[in-house]
Amino acid sequence: MNVAQLGSGTPEIAVVAGVHGDEPCGVRAVRRLLEERPTVARPVKLIIVNEKALERQVRFVDEDLNRAFPGDPDAATHEGRLAAWLVEELDGCLTFSMHSTQSHAEPFAIVNEVTDRARELVPQLPVAAMVETSNFAEGRLFSEIDTIEVECGLQGSETAAQNADRLMRAFLTAVGALPGDTIHRELPVYRLTDVIRKERAETYEVFVDNFTEVKPGDPFAAADGNRQVAEEAFYPILMSSNGYRNVFGYAAEKLETVSSQSTAE
Ligand SMILES: [Zn+2]
Repeated sequence: MNVAQLGSGTPEIAVVAGVHGDEPCGVRAVRRLLEERPTVARPVKLIIVNEKALERQVRFVDEDLNRAFPGDPDAATHEGRLAAWLVEELDGCLTFSMHSTQSHAEPFAIVNEVTDRARELVPQLPVAAMVETSNFAEGRLFSEIDTIEVECGLQGSETAAQNADRLMRAFLTAVGALPGDTIHRELPVYRLTDVIRKERAETYEVFVDNFTEVKPGDPFAAADGNRQVAEEAFYPILMSSNGYRNVFGYAAEKLETVSSQSTAE
């Protein structure tokens, strides 16, 4: 784990990259910022987390770090120990954690809960939606630390790396660490309601687009040609044929639309 800081004093803001070793976009953004060393109005902690997995270009070494929180310093797994160190390192910090997916190219934010802070900050990020995990946060970083996660785009793509850079700078501007103004957007909010499991099979297919409503009776995925049909309407989120081992993704419901008050005047 690589921990660095911009500015002096005790940071209350942190940027985290490389929770998953096969998602290099955020790592590039953080490294670039460290080379640039901009003057910050408040100190920021910058952490590149799973260096061992990044080196091997794998999601994790022993177990998925973003399902391993709170972790334990004496855990048997690399990620179990890493989780505990990261929680200690991030104590008291509002944290911005960058990820990428195999399911959706357009950036969106994921929060544990739509708090006042999320309502204020997330509409200032260049994202298309805010997703609340509610019941599905177990083991994830934000079960321990106040975190805004962003999905920056498709894993390994140049666009995801550029998005990560823009997202990180927008976050640091929104919290007042970097100078300038942000653009305030109206954002739809979704809440995860179900995990869409997949059976063990040779081939997987997904027939629907993320964030586009699936109607009752619509086939949405198949394992070895066996189609799964929607019983109720839902919005698919993080759905991909081969992104995860046991699940296609999540079903969500659409809630409100949020827009933060413009403070640019
Ligand atoms: Zn990730």
